[in-house]
Amino acid sequence: MSDLLELPASRLISKIRAQEVSAEEYISKCYERIEKVEKRIHAFITLTEKMALEKAREVDAKIRSNRSVGSLAGIAVAVKDNICTLGVRTTCASKMLESFTPPYDATVVERLKSQDAVIIGKTNMDEFAMGSSTEHSRFGPTRNPYDLSRVPGGSSGGSAAAVASLEATLALGSDTGGSVRCPASFCNLVGLKPTYGLVSRYGLIAYANSLEQISPITKCVADAALLTDVIAGHDNRDSTSIDAGRSSLSRHLVENVAGMRIGVPQEFFGRGTDRDVSKVVWKAITKLEELGASHTEIKLECLDYALASYYIIATSEASSNLARYDGLRYGFRLEDDGYDWSTAFSRNRRSGFGAEVKRRIMLGTFALSAGYYDEYYLKAQRVRTLIRQELEKAFKSFELLAAPTMPILPFRLKEKLRDPLEMYMCDVDTVVANLAGIPAISVPCGSSRGLPVGIQFMAPVFREDLLIRAAYTLEQNLVQTSLKLKI
Ligand code: GLN
Repeated sequence: MSDLLELPASRLISKIRAQEVSAEEYISKCYERIEKVEKRIHAFITLTEKMALEKAREVDAKIRSNRSVGSLAGIAVAVKDNICTLGVRTTCASKMLESFTPPYDATVVERLKSQDAVIIGKTNMDEFAMGSSTEHSRFGPTRNPYDLSRVPGGSSGGSAAAVASLEATLALGSDTGGSVRCPASFCNLVGLKPTYGLVSRYGLIAYANSLEQISPITKCVADAALLTDVIAGHDNRDSTSIDAGRSSLSRHLVENVAGMRIGVPQEFFGRGTDRDVSKVVWKAITKLEELGASHTEIKLECLDYALASYYIIATSEASSNLARYDGLRYGFRLEDDGYDWSTAFSRNRRSGFGAEVKRRIMLGTFALSAGYYDEYYLKAQRVRTLIRQELEKAFKSFELLAAPTMPILPFRLKEKLRDPLEMYMCDVDTVVANLAGIPAISVPCGSSRGLPVGIQFMAPVFREDLLIRAAYTLEQNLVQTSLKLKI
């Protein structure tokens, strides 16, 4: 029966619909699995077992009485803890929001529910989504199911670990600078960051809102298409949401890359890229070539400045977004009264935020302050425009760009905690897509030293179909690696 948990969502749904297994039975299995492995993995901050079983029974009743059910009927979804869930606490892995229970659902959560998905819990993450390892969590780190001494990536590490360790079938994360693609790559999963504006951010607790998108983490490309189709779509509660019509990525699950031109920017294989990672990624590119695609190595010089510009823009936006946590309106508040407003404000923030969040608020405040604004923030925005233009130009000659998702293999816990810059460097290949607003996918493409490696494809805005086609073709044609879960 535990192999039920190994099935992708698309296969499980037909079993549930055909009443070969009940949603209740399957959801109970998920919780049995959680009970068994969660102590070692720590993927979740909050579990919602009672609500989940109720929802599963509701789905079963609908099926038994021949009523129509949604496209995610009965499927267990883990939701990152920065996405608001009505009546279920949403902490952002921060002391600041430790006891915050939203009075409303994020749009994506409404959409999940309307398609009969079952939300099984809220997942661990780096505090306020700032990090690449899920170690900056108020609740302690999450571990990589393929090697418990290593990180699952971040900041959506809990979502990835939950799917990889078979606790959940699907998961949602958020990707501001790679937070879905990084953990997908480190946990041998698929992570798809959609075009900016395709998925509503209403109810996503903001870190850097001009960069982020809620994004799926799944076992396979078909599930990523299925979940994106559910969460994408116009929402007038998010002013940056774009009306691109109905998402139907599942139609593009075809094995066909004939004639597809792939650009491979050398900058993505630069200094700091692990040789083994490069090798595995190149093998995948060669495989696509065997299947009818072609590749050309190119230079995109602006990319050398992407990481610096990302960290200036992201921290600037963060410093402004996080100004709302004053301990007065909601979230954490120290008991002591009697201080003047400004002292109380500082005391609450000093105690409510973790070290990495404070570092980013200070960096961002500095970059935005008078005298430095032109030197940092404005310059970073200019670089962002140049990157966007350079990519637009490249996409005139290529359908896709390919790169490693992560420059290195999953690293050991604490390995990169000493030096924040080392942690920031991990994002060098993922931030580009967020700066340009283009869609990008990470798909497993092999392993090295017993650890997973992901390849990343980027496409022009709203061309998720190309990502799905290339990723699906690769997934169907690469020889499965013999990676083993260590739980
Ligand atoms: N690691 C990057 C950062 O810390 C990306 C985070 C994210 O995508 N949320 O900013």
